Amino acid sequence: MTHDESSATLRVADLGEFALIDRLAAVLREEAVPARSAPADELAIGDDAAAWRPTPDRWEILTTDALVENVHFRLSTTTWRELGWKALAENVSDVAAMGGRPRRAFVTLGLPPETPIAGLEELYRGMAHLACEFDLVIAGGDTVAAPVVFLSVTVVGEVEGPGLRRSAGQPGDLLAVTGVLGGSAAGLEILEAGGPGPGDDVGRSLAHCHRNPSPRVRQGLVLNEAGIRCGMDLSDGLLGDAAKLARASGVGATIALASVPMHPCLEERFGPRAAELALTGGEDYELLVAAPADVIGRAEQALRRARLGPLSVVGRLEPGHAGQVRVVDAAGRPIQPSRASWDHFGRSGTRR
Ligand SMILES: [Mg+2]
Repeated sequence: MTHDESSATLRVADLGEFALIDRLAAVLREEAVPARSAPADELAIGDDAAAWRPTPDRWEILTTDALVENVHFRLSTTTWRELGWKALAENVSDVAAMGGRPRRAFVTLGLPPETPIAGLEELYRGMAHLACEFDLVIAGGDTVAAPVVFLSVTVVGEVEGPGLRRSAGQPGDLLAVTGVLGGSAAGLEILEAGGPGPGDDVGRSLAHCHRNPSPRVRQGLVLNEAGIRCGMDLSDGLLGDAAKLARASGVGATIALASVPMHPCLEERFGPRAAELALTGGEDYELLVAAPADVIGRAEQALRRARLGPLSVVGRLEPGHAGQVRVVDAAGRPIQPSRASWDHFGRSGTRR
């Protein structure tokens, strides 16, 4: 189907988020916008953040993200303070994904008239705590009346050199992730089932992963410094995000399920479902990178020296159909995962 013949009847729900972004980017190409606004050394739509070079030796990056009440959060299950932390953390994570340092944040709030002021003060306390931890200035924004609460957060940062790009992977590169995976998705399940009971330390620890994710800014800086050129953050689950990285790089990928680092509490609580949560669970905000084996080895040592946790090899990029990801078991046999990743306009519904 071409752009012209289908647009008249299509609705957002027919496309899904990624097909929608492709179509909007196509409009800009048709209208010849890239030729004027995106020279070869700038990044246009399709990476974790936009990047451009104001002077020959300095790159700036910008990322923006919106959260809408009852679509991305419910005030019945999320506190205002957690919402503030998480809204800013998601954007800071996209700066970390490029190997950059966040500098300034801008916050636009959509507010129904009955919104409690004490709640909004707590929202700002949550953002302030994250801003202090990452040395980030909350520099401005806007407030508007709206039928539900929404937040739109923009973060501007900078990066040494071009940083980490989704499109920089090569066949033969190893795929590796920081930290451990699946904690946030497990925490969401526990929260949606009523939250951790008294004395449930495992449940509380998993719920914390979901409510207060820590963006991997320090890890991203070390990975960039160590020579990693391809990477992204894990917001939608390893399987789906690896497909995006592979697609942007024009390659396929294989993930070895047994090598995916799981949150240490997952097996205890979820038994045989632990691997699925680690492979497909969203919102861990760890970093996924691809590089030749010697660069991965160097980066892994640099992270360990800086006490910034492990870098675990989970698979490799391969020649083949762009964006196709195979998952294999310990014997190398293909596995069919049950669920790929979140798609914001698809059938997956509320994410937190
Ligand atoms: Mg991202």
